[in-house]
Amino acid sequence: MSATTQCERCGVDACGGDGNPDARIFRRAQHGVCVNCGVVLFLQRLANMQTSHMNPAQARALNMDSAQVDAVNSNPFGGFAESLRLVHIQECLARVMRAGKSDAHPGEIDWERVIELWDIDAPPKGGLW
Ligand SMILES: [Zn+2]
Repeated sequence: MSATTQCERCGVDACGGDGNPDARIFRRAQHGVCVNCGVVLFLQRLANMQTSHMNPAQARALNMDSAQVDAVNSNPFGGFAESLRLVHIQECLARVMRAGKSDAHPGEIDWERVIELWDIDAPPKGGLW
């Protein structure tokens, strides 16, 4: 069962519903945050990525090789959030989503919105995704 609800972090309308119990990442729920806020919170919590410079532990968490890390750390956009425009970074999260049987599809992510939402205050616990 699905129903429209409001993201508890950014306030947009989001499609809530029953999640797949096998989803280990971005599981749909009745209340919580939209998929774009879910991406922000996942990446920030994954390896403390509020900082602009990626370290080796963060790179391992996203299964990134040294060339990819160098691209992030020297990216022309500035901090980590802006590096999310890089396709190979987006592909890393898509692989994580597939491996984690995500309810959300990688194509649902609006990366420009994710970057916009990076610095807003975090919501209460729980989540649509
Ligand atoms: Zn949101």
